[in-house]
Amino acid sequence: MHEMSLAKSMMEIVEETAKKNNAKHVQSVLMELGVLSHADPDALKFAFEVVSHDTIAHGAKFEIVRLPGKAWCIPCGHTVDIPQWGAPCPDCGSRQLAVTQGDEMRIASINIV
Ligand SMILES: [Zn+2]
Repeated sequence: MHEMSLAKSMMEIVEETAKKNNAKHVQSVLMELGVLSHADPDALKFAFEVVSHDTIAHGAKFEIVRLPGKAWCIPCGHTVDIPQWGAPCPDCGSRQLAVTQGDEMRIASINIV
């Protein structure tokens, strides 16, 4: 399961950050997940709950913020919103798009005590 390994590597970052800051417990983790990333938010949430068991982040609130997909259209030069990979430019219908945002998968903030 793809989300499980993602959650595992995220937990490593969370634990490392918590250790560095002498945290006793991790209260919440906020993650940014672009709509073009190939991860399912619900599956990722579940995976995080599983991998955080028996760690400093046990019981932490795990929140996900979705970032919209954005791309630059080469033929018409517009920056446009795209809902998924391979979507055409909403302005001119071209598929020659350079994706500029939306495939992010990163920890935005960690709340510790
Ligand atoms: Zn266009």
